[in-house]
Amino acid sequence: KVAVVLFTRDLRVHDNPALAAAARAAERVVPLFVHDPAIRAGEQRRRFLDGCLADLKASLRRLGADLAELRGDPVTEAVRVARAVGAEGIGVAADVSGYARHREHRLREACEAERVALKTFPGVTVVPPGAVRPAGGDHYRVFTPYWRAWQARQHREVEGAPRALRLPDGLPASWLRDRPAVEDGAGGESAGRRRLAAWLPQLSAYEDNHDAMAADRTSRLSPYLHFGCVSPGEVAARAAGRPGAEPFVRQLCWRDFYQQVLYAFPDLRHKAYRATAQEAWRDESDALQAWREGHTGVPVVDAGMRQLLAEGWMHNRARLITASYLTKHLGVDWRAGGDHFFDLLLDADVGNNYGNWQWVAGTGNDTKPYRRFNPVRQGHRFDPRGDYVRRYVPELAAVEGKAVHEPWTLPEARRKQLDYPAPLVLP
Ligand code: FAD
Repeated sequence: KVAVVLFTRDLRVHDNPALAAAARAAERVVPLFVHDPAIRAGEQRRRFLDGCLADLKASLRRLGADLAELRGDPVTEAVRVARAVGAEGIGVAADVSGYARHREHRLREACEAERVALKTFPGVTVVPPGAVRPAGGDHYRVFTPYWRAWQARQHREVEGAPRALRLPDGLPASWLRDRPAVEDGAGGESAGRRRLAAWLPQLSAYEDNHDAMAADRTSRLSPYLHFGCVSPGEVAARAAGRPGAEPFVRQLCWRDFYQQVLYAFPDLRHKAYRATAQEAWRDESDALQAWREGHTGVPVVDAGMRQLLAEGWMHNRARLITASYLTKHLGVDWRAGGDHFFDLLLDADVGNNYGNWQWVAGTGNDTKPYRRFNPVRQGHRFDPRGDYVRRYVPELAAVEGKAVHEPWTLPEARRKQLDYPAPLVLP
């Protein structure tokens, strides 16, 4: 028996239900990744993905198999591979976004036409979308009841990596080409597992430190979770029960929450979730551009935006502040901000990104439309020494004390020495 496992954003060998099932059911397995030209990725994310694939390939080789890589439409290519190797079935992780679900739907039709069995597996979230539902509805709109139902649910057992895998004989060498070595710090399961192992002992301080922007003491697991280098179920299971785990596990639940929102509302990136949301955005293209580049003149906003440009990642507190400033102070459409984040974030994820943008903009579910964050107050509170600002905005590195968050309060002569703009809109 031969099976194909189509990897998408479950780029790991540990706790991968699709791979584990194929290893159990078939004597020969073809692990396959198809580079889909329809999926755009910026330079940093492409490098991260390269790291994920190189690491996956190395792990699969250690298990006795390899990673086959092709380019094109994943549906066409997966079925072509299945036919070429005489596979009885294709296994794939069930995913959430409209694009992924359409792909799964087309794959199901193509498999039916070829008489190949298609099996889908959980593993992209801790709790699959739709697995917990409110009475009389298909998804939760409000987080707290979702969190209660999520906690009460029996979670899937975490599985290890398969012990061994065997490829069918005679696969074309062009499918199995070596990959160039990847630089350190890139994506991948090995790096993700190391990060998780190093993170777990720090859980007890998460509640106190997760908002401290300069200290940077969150897990930084988000890109690894997005690409499935670590299994969200395994992260939740290994965290659970440790001192101080609950606030962290709650964030994993927020991730599942937005995935089930997206599943029920596939238009999340384009359309206000609340049909009644008041939307009157200004067309402020210069302001939008200044925000993108980190030149708004509001230090903590600029620090966040420049962290995003430099690292492809931004601290959660800074994401809240920068998104609020764009939508509430500059009056610019959340879609424009969300798209910019989406282009640059390593962890760019339709559900988490646009779900959170809508939450900040006040168009989403479980949100307060009139909330707005004052970036100066947020700066004093969550970057009290100003070190986060100084790290990312070198023009302000020499400004001492609290003025680093409001340089417009400095004496004029001093202000003129700084190569830093006046705020577009005063907070
Ligand atoms: P930790 O604090 O260590 O949290 C652990 C994990 O929980 C994260 O890795 C993430 O998977 C999940 N998580 C944490 N906070 C949230 C949240 N508010 N919503 C959903 N999941 C959460 N997260 C993304 O993964 N992709 C995005 O594209 C994304 N866009 C965002 C846009 C805006 C405007 C805002 C306000 C938040 C966004 N987030 C997004 C959520 C959050 O900022 C990041 O998940 C977090 O900063 C990642 O850092 P971490 O792994 O150290 O998080």
